[in-house]
Amino acid sequence: MGLLEDVVVNAKSAVNVMGKTAGKIVDISKLRFSAAELNGEISKRYESLGRMVYDAQKTDNDATDLVRECVVAIDDLYEQLDAVNEQISAMRNRTVCKGCGAENPQSANYCSKCGKKLEDPAAGEPEEPAQAPDAEPEAQAEPEEPKEE
Ligand SMILES: [Zn+2]
Repeated sequence: MGLLEDVVVNAKSAVNVMGKTAGKIVDISKLRFSAAELNGEISKRYESLGRMVYDAQKTDNDATDLVRECVVAIDDLYEQLDAVNEQISAMRNRTVCKGCGAENPQSANYCSKCGKKLEDPAAGEPEEPAQAPDAEPEAQAEPEEPKEE
């Protein structure tokens, strides 16, 4: 069952790579790249996990241990992803809600999604986006005049 073991080993090495880079990178494009990579990696894990369970069922094997390892690997990847997303948000001057993970302006005191108090109420005044002036109502279709000619 070389394939199944590869899956687990790969998951572990992927986690290690991310763990190493996550601490250093400060470049937002690199962070985005990491997040994309992690997302891709997570999708792959899910696929492998499904295949693993399918194969085990088909061949009447017990995949419990492998499944467990795979689940742990996926959880690890999700943790990495959270960390990367948090860094991205920090660089964009956004605050990530600890409750629901939604991004809020750094000046916000409460999460706009779940209402939880945000931990970084640095700026006192909430930054309201300047309201766009109302668009002029479009001149509506002129009544059709039947032309007599
Ligand atoms: Zn929230």
